[in-house]
Amino acid sequence: MPLPSLSHGAKQCTALTKRTKQPCKNPAAYGCRTCRLHGARKNIVSGKDHVNFVHGKRTLEAQLEQSATSRRLQQIEDAMYLLNMTSATRTRGRKASGYFRIKSLDEIKKIII
Ligand SMILES: [Zn+2]
Repeated sequence: MPLPSLSHGAKQCTALTKRTKQPCKNPAAYGCRTCRLHGARKNIVSGKDHVNFVHGKRTLEAQLEQSATSRRLQQIEDAMYLLNMTSATRTRGRKASGYFRIKSLDEIKKIII
């Protein structure tokens, strides 16, 4: 992880060193008042405030939503095979978490609603 640079406007650590009682000269960690040696990262922020947040496409909520969408599409494919709407080859690969195979018309009604 790149460290902030004091020459580029980063804040300086606010802690005093134990030995000399002088202010620490290290740059403060991102989003913290102190450097890594003086207790930074004790309150790591999450979501948009996290330093590594870029676009939000890989957040836990986005991943769960993508998994739910994938599961729903796989079950719609099962329903299409059950209703003889397609004769194409089945999609291969790992199924989404929470997926269960659609085997009856009652299960189709459950996923539609
Ligand atoms: Zn420090």
